[in-house]
Amino acid sequence: MFVSRGDNADKNDNNAIITEILQLRAERAKLLGFPTHAHWRLENAMAKTPEKAMQLMEAVWKPAVLRVKEEVADMQKLADNEGAGLKIEPWDYRFYMEKVRKARYDLDQNEVKPYLQLDKLREGMFWVAGELFNFKFTPLTNVPVYHADVRVWEVTDKTSGKHVGLWYFDPYARTGKRSGAWMNSYRSQERMDKPVTTIVSNNSNFVKGKPGEPVLISWDDANTLFHEFGHALHGLSSNVTYPSLAGTSVARDYVEFPSQLLEHWLSTPEVLQRFALHYKTGEPIPQALVDKINKAATFNQGFGTVEYLASALVDMKLHLAGAQKIDADQFERETLAALGMPEEIVMRHRTPQFGHVFSSDGYSAGYYSYLWSDVLTADAFGAFTEGKGAYDKKVGARLTKYIFSVGNTIDPAEAYRAFRGRDPQIKALMIKRGFPADAEKNSSNEKTPTRSKIKKR
Ligand SMILES: [Zn+2]
Repeated sequence: MFVSRGDNADKNDNNAIITEILQLRAERAKLLGFPTHAHWRLENAMAKTPEKAMQLMEAVWKPAVLRVKEEVADMQKLADNEGAGLKIEPWDYRFYMEKVRKARYDLDQNEVKPYLQLDKLREGMFWVAGELFNFKFTPLTNVPVYHADVRVWEVTDKTSGKHVGLWYFDPYARTGKRSGAWMNSYRSQERMDKPVTTIVSNNSNFVKGKPGEPVLISWDDANTLFHEFGHALHGLSSNVTYPSLAGTSVARDYVEFPSQLLEHWLSTPEVLQRFALHYKTGEPIPQALVDKINKAATFNQGFGTVEYLASALVDMKLHLAGAQKIDADQFERETLAALGMPEEIVMRHRTPQFGHVFSSDGYSAGYYSYLWSDVLTADAFGAFTEGKGAYDKKVGARLTKYIFSVGNTIDPAEAYRAFRGRDPQIKALMIKRGFPADAEKNSSNEKTPTRSKIKKR
């Protein structure tokens, strides 16, 4: 039922309106002088052309599909050993995946949490910002806030003492607050008439502890904390003339790059040793536990990548072909069959329910952006590890100069080249996801997997 939403031949069926949206988008693109909607949407993106985005997706697709086969084999073996008497189907995947995770990695989140105190991790983020961006955070009590839970810090340059901006932190859940975690920009940096500094906030939904009790968070939430702080630092580092080009106002396939990149500093020993401290004993998190976390990081990446990429590929192909009268259902089936979609997985967002792509132009021909940003992220961190490590001052200075401070004033591809000394390569992403780094070459001899039964959903 969930995967058939909007596809039930009733009054809520979206297939006809998808055909119409695609045709109108194609028509508009033609009027604007572009061959397809995808070409128009990507002109201002870092990828620039649909072909470049497709190239990346296709390079990652094959090794991801091969990994899915391994994941399915692991799950099948476990199910067989249990005498389950079944063949793994899409509705079995998550259930058996959790069983394999537990059997293989023995990682219990409750073992990790006592080391992850929200306040200590916030201090850790400030410390990282000091090392990488030369920022100092000083709490302010004389600034108005919209809720008693919200706290404000003044950000200054550690060396000159110059005012950089304000950082608001609104960490706790409360009635009426949006769920999830995000960064807000209240005021963008600019100097059109006179210098204006950045005001940003980070927002999350942690459950407030009792007075005097630390708030303990999960490893995933700690990553998200660093991620959103990355967006905030992108805003705070801004050093441009025009507000419309400042901070995080960058291309859609580039905006998650600075934030995803900052996630990498959470797991540096410098941060863990100083700030991931047990709330009772004050002991830093044991290395054995960190190793377990790292080892489990590539688990199930076949599923995650294929589930996501199937949607991203269909999105791009629909917007390359949209001028024809497309039957969305048939198009999706045929595209997935041609790709060799594993039959144990369903697209993360099937076409009739693909809000990213059809509720607005937003992510249309742009769902690939998440993968694109992740290529940059993985490759960029390599600049540090190939140098003196995560806190290499020289690399950090280049990061500020070419990535964090320039907003949308430099072509992102040029900015990246200036930072890295070359174009991004996908090798680091493959390693990060646990795929063979030279999978592209190896898989060329593989027979393309075929979809043995294609169901009409
Ligand atoms: Zn983000």
